[in-house]
Amino acid sequence: MRPSILQPLFSDVDTLKGIGPRLRTLLTKLIDRPGEVKDPRKIDLLWHFPSGVVDRRNRPKINDLKPGELATFDATVLAHKGPKFKGKARFSNAPYRVKLEDSTGEIDLVFFRIDPRYIERQMPIGEIRYISGRPELYADKLQIPHPDHILTKEEFDNFPPLEPVYPLTQGLTSKTLQKAMSQLMPLIPALDEWQNAEWLKKNNWPDFQTALKSIHRPNEIEDISASSPARQRLAYDELLAKQLSLALVRRELRAKKGRSIKGTGAMREKIINALPFSLTGSQSMALSEIYADLESENRMLRLLQGDVGSGKTIVALLTAAAAIENGHQVALMAPTEVLARQHLESLEELAGKAGIRLGLLTGREKGKVRKQILLALKEGLIDCLIGTHALFQSDVLFKELAFAIIDEQHRFGVEQRLALQAKAGPLGAELLVMTATPIPRTLLMTNYGDMDVSKLTEKPAGRKPVTSRVIPIERLEEVMSGLKRAIQEGAQAYWVCPLVETSEKIELAAAEERHAHLKQLFGDKIGLVHGQMKGEDKDKVMAQFASGHLPILVATTVIEVGVNVPNASIMVIEHSERFGLSQLHQLRGRVGRGERQSSCIFLYSSPLGATAKARLETMRSTEDGFVIAEEDLKLRGGGEMLGRRQSGERDFRVANVPGMQELITAANDDVKLILHSDPDLTSDRGRALRKLIYLFECDEAIKLFRAG
Ligand code: ADP
Ligand code: MG
Repeated sequence: MRPSILQPLFSDVDTLKGIGPRLRTLLTKLIDRPGEVKDPRKIDLLWHFPSGVVDRRNRPKINDLKPGELATFDATVLAHKGPKFKGKARFSNAPYRVKLEDSTGEIDLVFFRIDPRYIERQMPIGEIRYISGRPELYADKLQIPHPDHILTKEEFDNFPPLEPVYPLTQGLTSKTLQKAMSQLMPLIPALDEWQNAEWLKKNNWPDFQTALKSIHRPNEIEDISASSPARQRLAYDELLAKQLSLALVRRELRAKKGRSIKGTGAMREKIINALPFSLTGSQSMALSEIYADLESENRMLRLLQGDVGSGKTIVALLTAAAAIENGHQVALMAPTEVLARQHLESLEELAGKAGIRLGLLTGREKGKVRKQILLALKEGLIDCLIGTHALFQSDVLFKELAFAIIDEQHRFGVEQRLALQAKAGPLGAELLVMTATPIPRTLLMTNYGDMDVSKLTEKPAGRKPVTSRVIPIERLEEVMSGLKRAIQEGAQAYWVCPLVETSEKIELAAAEERHAHLKQLFGDKIGLVHGQMKGEDKDKVMAQFASGHLPILVATTVIEVGVNVPNASIMVIEHSERFGLSQLHQLRGRVGRGERQSSCIFLYSSPLGATAKARLETMRSTEDGFVIAEEDLKLRGGGEMLGRRQSGERDFRVANVPGMQELITAANDDVKLILHSDPDLTSDRGRALRKLIYLFECDEAIKLFRAG
């Protein structure tokens, strides 16, 4: 159970005054909560931090008002002077004026196209109002057009002199959000301190309540900056919560019995003999680590990290074979249909030679076909089921599932991982997670602290370096003529269209436009794939491209992960400045896989911001995924948010701050100390830490609390 002191924070926003269904929907859009579930709760709003402040501390008398200088003052309403209306008309282009006075002078507020009834209600003659706005000179006289705020004394008393400015979403006004936030302030509870007292003092960090309040009700402009003590503290809170819960889960898993799987080696031998290449050193190393895990009585939870093209698939097949030799079944999960199919195709031949029976289950297998697959699975006629999310469905039952391999895991949630475990009976499934995104060491601690890690560091023999160039879009023609030459020589190219964070529609429109343009230049054989296409259509185009039938494939970012077309040697990325580093790296990894000298062209639009410039320079200068990942974290730690949609690191609510890496390392040490001195979290600090884990919704650990 969530501690009762936190309960109010987790109730729905619709219990706030002024938030009805329409605004609730807008708030749902606004909040940036990891995962799929999206019921907006108060805590989600509290994690929605301001991006700036408006300083309303300037409090002159009317006489001292200066043109252009934002001022907040109180005055008595003297008179209204509005345009005359004929008939039912309520709006006019003539200005509506309200005269105010204080002990030093008079000033007019001016409104255009406004309903006079509204203004009359807001400013009755003879009453005092608090006005905040920017005076302007008009015909030698100062006036204030459309003040930002017109407040009663009571409203003013609740009004922050440093007004936070929040990121908004279309249809949601700043005033509405402010009102909601004001109601939230008294709900922020004082909680028992979970941080080490000396550590707090050393960093000069405030307590939790003060910290969170000062971000929404700053006393100084600096309070909202990502390097303020308040923000740093909350970032550390989140990192500590995550790492502590991962450590708890890991400890729990270690204690759990799994299966001891030691195959005969017969199938593996057949596969190895059929391989047209020999394994790289790091493939062999990873394999022996995984075999050892399978063999041990503990349940395996291992992450296999290997850059794009480092040869993870064959590792997956060989480890699956080990379990199958032992009479078990294996599930191989891919994040997309395209990838699941590709896995099937690339493994079919080798699996066949070893006598491994593969099956495929995606959203597309329906009705009779699906029934047959499910039946075969239950009877043990399928040894390895390859599939997508469709594998999680409750009627997918195995005879003897013992091992699950999840490719590109950042697309799957913890819940799904657990659902899969449940299909493997009381002993659970041995779990191997594969990712092509090299993860910086520090992020490994926060996101995968519960896992053992194997790394594929070498690229398979025969990979050639990719030439990378960064080119402004103004030189598009040059790029086109280069492309033309290459295609005449038989090369194939990917053309990736700009990422549009806010709208898939615009993204699609851009891709269609570029598709049409390229068709004009190069003729009809230009493919197009995008996220809104049906799976079958997508596959068809991909297959045509893979078979060499289409020289150019225009794509939105759906091709990002895992697609393998060795003859494609050119990658053009439009608006590359909008992509995150890890995405760019993934995209570039699509080429450099065949015989041809490959190249990657990063097109950009000027002017480039400093971060974008640094990002593209990194891409130009290195192909090492681990270097790129470290650089990515450094740049993003500075508040860089672009590229998050697909970058996978969406799990942080507040921890993206400068100095994040140091905080992560510190939290890692902290966790070790905590678990050493208070393994069951029963001390005062331990109990406070449990609340912290609830506060940041570290579900995996929370389940443990429930169980114990
Ligand atoms: P990824 O790690 O991106 O999933 P893949 O497993 O798809 O990479 O491997 C990419 C290509 O490299 C495949 O065509 C595969 O057959 C080939 N490959 C894998 N291991 C080796 C190796 N040791 N030597 C040569 N080629 C290899
Ligand atoms: Mg792969």
